[in-house]
Amino acid sequence: MEYRLLGKTALRVSVLGFGASPLGDEFGKTTAEERQRAVDTAIDRGINYFDTSPFYGRTLSEERLGQALAGKRQRVFLATKCGRYDLDRFDFSAQRVFTSIDESLRRLRTDHVDVLQAHDIEFGDQRQIIEETVPALLNVKESGKARFIGVTGYPPRRLAEVAAARPLDLVLSYCHYNLLVTDMDELLTPLVREKGIGLVNASPLHMRILTETGAPAWHPAPESVKQAGAAVVRLCREHGRDPAAVALRFCIEHPYVATTLVGMASPAEVEANVRGIEQPVDAGLLEEIARLVEPVKNTTWESGHE
Ligand code: NAD
Repeated sequence: MEYRLLGKTALRVSVLGFGASPLGDEFGKTTAEERQRAVDTAIDRGINYFDTSPFYGRTLSEERLGQALAGKRQRVFLATKCGRYDLDRFDFSAQRVFTSIDESLRRLRTDHVDVLQAHDIEFGDQRQIIEETVPALLNVKESGKARFIGVTGYPPRRLAEVAAARPLDLVLSYCHYNLLVTDMDELLTPLVREKGIGLVNASPLHMRILTETGAPAWHPAPESVKQAGAAVVRLCREHGRDPAAVALRFCIEHPYVATTLVGMASPAEVEANVRGIEQPVDAGLLEEIARLVEPVKNTTWESGHE
C-alpha cells in the first residue's frame, strides 16, 4: 500500500481509503461477520483511512464501524461528519455541530476523531456554512475532539468557495473525478492545491455504476450515464480487466488526491480493490474508455441548493 500526506495535516493516509457507507446498508444488507472481516482485512492490507457519517444508515455505519474497530482504533485514521442526518434532515448550526461530535464519539467508541467534516454543505445556507459551521468545526478542533476539519459535498464550486474563505484542513469531493467525470480538476483541485488543503476523492466507482452489479435504484445519474458505465464495464471485461480495478487505478493516479474512498462491505471487495490498484491500466484501454464515455463526459445532476 502506498501512503500520501493529506495536505498540511500530519496524516499519512493510504491511497485507498475505506468508505463506510455500505456498513450502514446503504447499498444493500450486510452481516456482522462480513462487516468485521471487511474492516479487519482492510487494516491487514494497510488501509488506514476510514470515512463514515451519522447519515450512513442513520447512525448504523458509525455504530458498526465503532464496533468493528474495537481494540484497533489506534491503527487507523477515523473521519466522520456532521450536519446531515437523513435524506432531508440537515442542521449546520454551531449548536448541532457540538452535540453531533459527542454523539459520534460515543457511537465510534473513541475520545477523538482524526477528521470532522460538515456533510453535504450544498444542502445548507452557504453563508451559515462559512460564518457559523466552519468556525464551530474549528472550535471542536481546539477542544481536541477532532484533529482536523473539512467540508464535503457534490458541487465543486460550493466546496471551493468555502475552501477559499476559511482555513480548512481538507475537502472531500465525490462523483466529480473518475472514469466518467473529471471536472473536480477545473476549479476545486487547483484552489486546494495552492492552499495546501488536503483533497479526498470519493465514489471512484461512481456509486457502483462502474461495476458488474450496476447502479442502485436510488442513483441520481441520468440513464445515459448508467448506460455508458455499463459499456465501460463490458469493454474492461473484453480486455480481461476487472472494471472496478481499472476505475480505481485511474483515480489513484491523480497527482494531488491523497486518498480515494471506495465503499466496501465485504472482505472479497477489500481484497479485490487492494489488488486492483496495483496493476497499471494500459494507455490503449484508457483511450478506448475515453472515446466511449465522451458523449456523457462530465454529466452531473442537481444536488442541494446549488
Ligand atoms: P463507490 O463509488 O465507492 O461505490 C461503492 C459501491 O461499490 C458499494 O456497493 C460497494 O459494495 C461496491 N464495490 C466496492 N468495490 C467493488 C468491487 N471491487 N467490485 C464490485 N463492487 C464493488 O461509492 P460510495 O460508497 O458512495 O463512495 C465511497 C465512500 O466515499 C462512501 O462510502 C463514503 O465514505 C464516501 N462518500 C462521501 C460523500 C460525502 O461526504 N458527501 C459522498 C459520497 C461518498
